[in-house]
Amino acid sequence: MRKPIKNLHLAVLPPDGKIRVSSPVNMKDDAIRTLISTRIPWIKKQRRKFSSQERQTARGYVTGESHYFLGKRYRLEVVYKNESSKVILKGNNKIVIQVRPGAKLEKREEAMLGWYRESLKLILDGLFSKWQKKIGVMPKAYSIKKMKTRWGTCGRESRHIWMNLELVKKPINCIEYVTVHELLHLIEKKHNENFVSLMTKFQPNWRETKDELNRLILAYEKWNY
Ligand SMILES: [Zn+2]
Repeated sequence: MRKPIKNLHLAVLPPDGKIRVSSPVNMKDDAIRTLISTRIPWIKKQRRKFSSQERQTARGYVTGESHYFLGKRYRLEVVYKNESSKVILKGNNKIVIQVRPGAKLEKREEAMLGWYRESLKLILDGLFSKWQKKIGVMPKAYSIKKMKTRWGTCGRESRHIWMNLELVKKPINCIEYVTVHELLHLIEKKHNENFVSLMTKFQPNWRETKDELNRLILAYEKWNY
């Protein structure tokens, strides 16, 4: 990337340590390469940081672990009881997973993801009914699924909107931003000027919300917002 800037900018990007270089327009390739080569120890150090963060984010669904819900961090507590599993919010900083004695990682994860999905469904029901009215469009359906690189998608022909399950970890204003974004795709397919002006009309501060949404994403390589 070449931009009208004075200095060479080097960034190591999560999750796999790809390098992004922004250089002054008139800087020669050789000079860029030489400069980068002097920064190799720093690049290696940043990459090591990412791989240790990756280990920390591996989920075990055990007591003491941190998990996010609607933009807030909670401490997980696992309780074993011979009843059907459930997840509850306790106080203002605890998520309690109740599972049967001996429940393995997959069962604990299943309980948590099931709860995440139900919670997001409730939130989306509210947001979709609000914004369908305001914008005056109606998708054929909307559903939740796990996606690797997108917060939401809107089928061109099907008019079916898919929302990423990961959104449940984000603040509600971010979930609302994605809802509006996808609904507007029913009017304008492309991210063109028309789309941007519609976005600004319905959510004047959408740019800040978008930045908030994409802050500190380490688990995915590329997000299209
Ligand atoms: Zn879009």
